[in-house]
Amino acid sequence: MEIKESFEEHFKRLLDKDYDKFLEWSFRLLKKAIRINTIKLIDDINYDNLKCIIKEENLRYISKEIDNIYNLRQNPFKINISAKEVLSRLKDYGWEIKRIPFYKYGFWIDGYRRDIGNTVEFQLGYYYPQEAASMIPPIALDPKKDDVILDLAAAPGSKTTQIAMHMENEGLIIANDVDINRIRALGENLQKQGIINTIVTMMDGLKIDRLNIKFDKILLDAPCSGTGAIRKSYKTLKIWSNDAINRLSYLQKKLIIKAFDNLKEGGTLVYSTCSVEPLENEFIVDYLLSKRENAKIEKINIPNLNKSEIIEEYGKYKIENLEDIRNTVRIWPWDNDTEGFYIAKIKKI
Ligand code: SAM
Repeated sequence: MEIKESFEEHFKRLLDKDYDKFLEWSFRLLKKAIRINTIKLIDDINYDNLKCIIKEENLRYISKEIDNIYNLRQNPFKINISAKEVLSRLKDYGWEIKRIPFYKYGFWIDGYRRDIGNTVEFQLGYYYPQEAASMIPPIALDPKKDDVILDLAAAPGSKTTQIAMHMENEGLIIANDVDINRIRALGENLQKQGIINTIVTMMDGLKIDRLNIKFDKILLDAPCSGTGAIRKSYKTLKIWSNDAINRLSYLQKKLIIKAFDNLKEGGTLVYSTCSVEPLENEFIVDYLLSKRENAKIEKINIPNLNKSEIIEEYGKYKIENLEDIRNTVRIWPWDNDTEGFYIAKIKKI
């Protein structure tokens, strides 16, 4: 695979001695992951129930701490099938199932059969194939049953369906995207997962004022370069350019301001990308903090999640609100063996 000179120059400047490590991880196979859908399944995930499905050494070091964080209710489906039953069926396919350390409902799939989108259990909406790091922004958003939530760039719906599951299918989600083809996939996924608390809209996120709603919570999982996800799609390497990063950065700044301005007072905005570019991450959130005095960063505390230092300067740019930005989460692929991700939680005071 050819690496562009400008890419190499940029990432060497950003990563210095870790550049080779970044390349090596960017070409490592990405582990497949699924999220159990508690809208359809009874949540019986705990150490004892998983003992017969997951190898002891994987189970022992993580399970109990995260099992008690959530206990989500099936709603409104009363299908008499549990997470344990479905996981053991998946094991019978020859899959090796491992726990994702930082999320109760996340499991890595390994072993003989890896086509996780091609099973009856997926078609029935019992689980959702979702990259492990992509499960983090909805956890940070902390959705509650009576929230009114906007998912500003929602398609194909990995995070919308996860948010709906945490709301136990109550409250209201507006799942918006600008791309009709991706919205089709979003609609299918919502239906398959049994989601009934979500309305889909197709608008440019910059025109979201037209909804005339102030939201309790907003997720802005922004359009980005995807440089954290090269191991998922090598196409990212082909389309990467400094110009593309600058264009995306410009759009992200506009979108984050728009999202923040459509929050209720006391509301929460989660900003995330699967990019590792500081100009799409720390500098976007820093821009918001500089433009809106009532924006405050909240710490994201997720047990068993490994994080890295934020990037404080890049070229001529320096972070202005350093103490705040240090409370945002930067994840490199090697931190948790996932995609690279960035997540910031912002409160409107
Ligand atoms: N949140 C999605 C998920 O978890 O499945 C992934 C979202 S993807 C990272 C970014 C999305 O932003 C794309 O679906 C893209 O169509 C959408 N997008 C790009 N420009 C937009 C805009 N101006 N307004 C709203 N959505 C936009």
